[in-house]
Amino acid sequence: MSPRPAGLRADGAGDARGPAGTVRRLSFPRPERGAAVTAPSLEDPAAEVVLGCHVLGIEDQGDPVWGHVSRRDRDLGHVWLKAGPRGFDEVGAEDVVLTDLDGKRLLGSAPVPREYPLHTEVLRVREDVGSVVHCHPPHAIALAATGQPLYAFSNGAGPFAAGVPRYEAPVGLVETPELGADVARHLGDARALFLVGHGIVAVGASVATAVMTAVLLERACRLQLLAAAAGGVAPPLREPGSRYSHAEADGYLLRSWEYLVRRTNSGKDGKA
Ligand SMILES: [Zn+2]
Repeated sequence: MSPRPAGLRADGAGDARGPAGTVRRLSFPRPERGAAVTAPSLEDPAAEVVLGCHVLGIEDQGDPVWGHVSRRDRDLGHVWLKAGPRGFDEVGAEDVVLTDLDGKRLLGSAPVPREYPLHTEVLRVREDVGSVVHCHPPHAIALAATGQPLYAFSNGAGPFAAGVPRYEAPVGLVETPELGADVARHLGDARALFLVGHGIVAVGASVATAVMTAVLLERACRLQLLAAAAGGVAPPLREPGSRYSHAEADGYLLRSWEYLVRRTNSGKDGKA
């Protein structure tokens, strides 16, 4: 078996560095002007999953305990996954498990989510993806249910200017590898996918970019519903062209990620 990452016990009890449920404080030094922005590098992938959950928690993306964040471990060839029915804001390291791409739990004690194939089958075919988010954000579910496409008419919606594909099969839970592979096919090379009548899938090279993709998608859907309530999106804004190309770079997402991480570190939940 692959070497166990430092700090994680095979029985999963108190399996984090420090007491169960704690995460190291992460800081992001202010970059120099003009410096390239990269995803923060974290030694502990379980802590990275926990942090991604906390950011989704302060963005109210829980339903209220469903949804997960996964992170590919390129060293081990496996996947770190938020497990068990826990709200995003209360997730601790004891709620993270390590599985193989077939969903077999290798480390940790929390139950592997039934919808693990949603993560593993995307990771299997998208080598560029290092993290998958699946959650049930209300505005995304509502907009997808209308049948309207997402119109990217704000800076934050820039990453979705190419459109968000839809998965409309009435399958309920995506709990088999076949369904997971079907979801991955519908996602294609996009950043996100509407699971119509269910939720969303968002992907990124890192937990930071996948989580921010989910966050920005929900905000974009909320804006569109607001616009719809006030008469709809004007036709020129339905075709954004290159207006928001600046918002498609990972650096744009990571600036907001750093801010939201600072908010999780504010002491509100005392975990980070
Ligand atoms: Zn779901």
